[in-house]
Amino acid sequence: MNITDEVAIHINAMHKWYGEFHVLKDINLTVHRGERIVICGPSGSGKSTMIRCINRLEEHQQGDIFVDGIELTNDLKNIDAIRREVGMVFQHFNLFPHLTVLENCVLAPIWVRKTPRKEAEEAAMHFLERVKIPEQAMKYPGQLSGGQQQRVAIARSLCMNPAIMLFDEPTSALDPEMISEVLDTMIDLAESGMTMLCVTHEMGFARKVANRVIFMDGGQIIEQNEPEEFFNNPQSERTKLFLSQIL
Ligand code: ADP
Ligand code: MG
Repeated sequence: MNITDEVAIHINAMHKWYGEFHVLKDINLTVHRGERIVICGPSGSGKSTMIRCINRLEEHQQGDIFVDGIELTNDLKNIDAIRREVGMVFQHFNLFPHLTVLENCVLAPIWVRKTPRKEAEEAAMHFLERVKIPEQAMKYPGQLSGGQQQRVAIARSLCMNPAIMLFDEPTSALDPEMISEVLDTMIDLAESGMTMLCVTHEMGFARKVANRVIFMDGGQIIEQNEPEEFFNNPQSERTKLFLSQIL
C-alpha cells in the first residue's frame, strides 16, 4: 500500500449550496495517489454531497476541484475525463435488475468505452473473480444476497479501470452478516494500491485500512488524522461526542 507524492484529488476552498442552504463550507482536501481515506460524521453533515461533488453528481458553486490535475468545470470534456478516472459505489447497489451480473459489468465498457464484447467479458470475469463471485455471472441481481450484489457493484466499477474509487456507505444497507464480505473486498482493493475515499462508520475498517480519517460536521471538515491518533486522541469536542456515540 504505497502512497505517492502524486496528487489524485485536490479540493480548494470549495463551497456548495442547495438553493439557499449552505451545505459545504470551505472544503480543503488533498488526496495523494494510493491514499485510503475514511470520511465519517453525523447524518446530514455533507459527506455524501462532498464525495458526489468529486465526480460531478453534484455541482459546487465556489472554489476548485481537481481530479488527476483536471479541473472540474462546466466543460463536459473535463467532466467526462474525470468520470473516467473515478468509480463510485453507493449504499444501494444501483444494479440494473433486468440484466445479468455479467451484463451489468460489461454494459459501460462496451457502450461507453467501445471495448469489444469478448474483451469486456473477460475483464468482467476477472473482476468477478477478484470479488469472489464468478459463479454468479449469469444470475440476475435479485437472485443474489445484498452482500453479493454490492460486490457486483464493486466489480462493475472496476471494469472501467478507475484510478480512484469513491464509496458512499457501501455496507449500511446490508444485513450484519454480509458486511464483512464487502469490507474484505474493499480491504483487498486497498491492498492493491487503489486510491480510495470511503464514507463509512465501520471503524474497524478505518483502523485497518485508512491512512487518514476525516471527520465532518455541519458541512465542514472538523478534524483529520491518522486512525490511531484520530480514535485515541480526538481534538474537537464534536469529534469526541461523535466517537462516543458510535464506538
Ligand atoms: P450525509 O451524507 O453526511 O448524511 P448529505 O450530503 O446527504 O449528508 O446531506 C447534507 C445536507 O444536505 C442534509 O441536510 C441534507 O438534507 C441536505 N441535502 C442533501 N441532498 C440535498 C438535495 N438534493 N437538495 C437539498 N438538500 C439536500
Ligand atoms: Mg450520506
